[in-house]
Amino acid sequence: MQFYLDGYRPGDPFVQPPAPGVADRPDGLPERTDVLVVGTGPAGMVLAAQLARFADVDTLVVDRRPGPLQVGQADGVACRTVEIFEAFGLADRLVAEAYWVNEVAFWRPDPADPSRIVRTGRVPDTEEGLSEFPHVIVNQARMLAYLREDLARAATRLPVHHGWQLVDLRVEEGAEEHPVVVVLEDTATGERATVRARYAVGCDGARSAVRTAIGRELAGDRTDQRWGVMDVLPVTDFPDIRLKATVHSHGEGNILVIPREGGYLVRFYIELDGVRDAGEVDPARLTEIANRILHPYTVEVRDVGWWSVYEIGQRLCDRFDDAPEDGSRGPRVFIAGDACHTHSAKAGQGMNVSMHDAWNLGWKLAAVLRGVARPELLDTYTAERQLIAQELIDFDRRFAALFSRPPEESDPEEFERYFVQQGRFTAGVATRYGTSAITGAGAHQHLATGFEVGTRFHSAPVVRLADARPVQLGHAARADGAWRLYLFADRDGTALRALCDQLAAPRSPLRRHTPAGWDPDAVLDVRAVLQQHHHDVEVGSLPAVLRPVKGPLGLVDQEKVYCPDPRAGDVFDLRGVDRAGCTVLVRPDQHVAHVLPLDGHDELATFLAGVLLPARRD
Ligand code: FAD
Repeated sequence: MQFYLDGYRPGDPFVQPPAPGVADRPDGLPERTDVLVVGTGPAGMVLAAQLARFADVDTLVVDRRPGPLQVGQADGVACRTVEIFEAFGLADRLVAEAYWVNEVAFWRPDPADPSRIVRTGRVPDTEEGLSEFPHVIVNQARMLAYLREDLARAATRLPVHHGWQLVDLRVEEGAEEHPVVVVLEDTATGERATVRARYAVGCDGARSAVRTAIGRELAGDRTDQRWGVMDVLPVTDFPDIRLKATVHSHGEGNILVIPREGGYLVRFYIELDGVRDAGEVDPARLTEIANRILHPYTVEVRDVGWWSVYEIGQRLCDRFDDAPEDGSRGPRVFIAGDACHTHSAKAGQGMNVSMHDAWNLGWKLAAVLRGVARPELLDTYTAERQLIAQELIDFDRRFAALFSRPPEESDPEEFERYFVQQGRFTAGVATRYGTSAITGAGAHQHLATGFEVGTRFHSAPVVRLADARPVQLGHAARADGAWRLYLFADRDGTALRALCDQLAAPRSPLRRHTPAGWDPDAVLDVRAVLQQHHHDVEVGSLPAVLRPVKGPLGLVDQEKVYCPDPRAGDVFDLRGVDRAGCTVLVRPDQHVAHVLPLDGHDELATFLAGVLLPARRD
């Protein structure tokens, strides 16, 4: 993380100085805003955290709850979500606090005595090298708390207006500015307020009022699965209480054991549909069922942190926005997270996919509102995320069916095999966006086989040239709305230098798309990875475009260039990068947009001109 670009100041450098206007901001709801975010679950909070990064975007965040969520709901945090948290500077805290899912154990009825369960297998949870981060477990309320703290540290000091619920939303057709008209109601007093927004996003959960207002419906399986969920502090002789474990019993049902943060807390998921006498349940009843499933082991619950009966079906919306079918206008209202897709808790995807929706949408909204990108960019949200949600539902259906099958009808190895095969999916790294204005067709993919176009940029260890610090290359990508251009150098650097000269020229995409007065890397952040050892290159010999002059003091950014880390493996080999070099263009949400040869400047310029607007020069 870099700071002091605007001048040295004492105090915590992670707290941004407040933006102009923050001190005078009235406490109540404004009459107008650029983006209205409805709901502060995982989707709403990631969206808010992304938009809070931009002082020139007005954001209003409301939630009907009287205050922040304190306990319960989801807890699985996929590797990809931790990567996203890293972009917000929140991964260290999350990883330190969370339980790490290292291995998974499988339990089944003992063939010799089916009334007893035995361990049938134990596998690594996540494939080696899939991500630099582990799969972790932490309470959803804590995830939201990290994001809330992030809002408070941002220059915009973005507040959440609790106790306000959306009761009406309509789009005034023909109104150019702020066409979304929303009525909000104070849940305590019944007082109503009308707010006009340029865009509104319904992150308001499975019963979304925003979804209803734009006439979209969740379609799919009408039968809800019932889950008994409880977070407990147990005393037990079950040997795998600190491992994620799936337990299938003979005739007593299934349980998913999820160890939680802090070393003592454990979550039990009990699928109630497969349990006899599972009418009304409470923690005592759930404990009794757990004991039946875990026999011959016993569990005594000493404290219940949270419990719930969570009923859910697999449902999906056909569109995630309000754009008319006839294409007469672009979208003004979006829905994200549970508002547009719901699925079982078995694969632990709800919170993750909701956050990924918001991450996909947030930078796009900011880019359009800030005049950086063409409004058509917003069409790609539904196009990209609806397909991903469909894939999730298909996966969830297969996974849930396998999980629920009685053990006598299923092959334990088949379940374990499926679990391992789907590891990339559950880790959240299998997402691959199709070809569009923001994702190339992959014609030059052979130049960097490990940076697959459409998938998230798979980070790799490198050494930063200027200070010899081992870092993760992917962590250069902050949640700042910038596109990243990673230039992987050719052996002697001739082609790299030629491309850098083109990028420095007045007609380059760098110049064309960066507004006057913005830092030169605010829209397109150019970085280079050299093939040489870091001792063999002088920082002063680098092209100017790799040492940009920034900020009000005209400081030089020295942190744009990397070399292989000999202790961790050469990044060129690790990610299959051709020794002739190449350019990897990465979107602001860290997905690879394009792989191009180093002499592909014109192709790069054409691609970017299809997304980004010519910059304002005023
Ligand atoms: P949510 O987290 O549902 O957030 C929606 C937010 O919108 C809420 O804060 C709500 O107060 C607000 N809101 C709703 N309507 C309005 C309105 N009209 N105006 C203003 N604000 C509004 N997943 C698991 O994996 N395991 C679990 O055990 C589990 N348990 C759950 C228990 C419950 C009670 C719920 C609701 C969900 C549970 N989930 C669980 C699902 C998981 O929490 C969700 O997948 C995830 O939270 C989705 O995030 P989201 O941001 O889309 O929506």
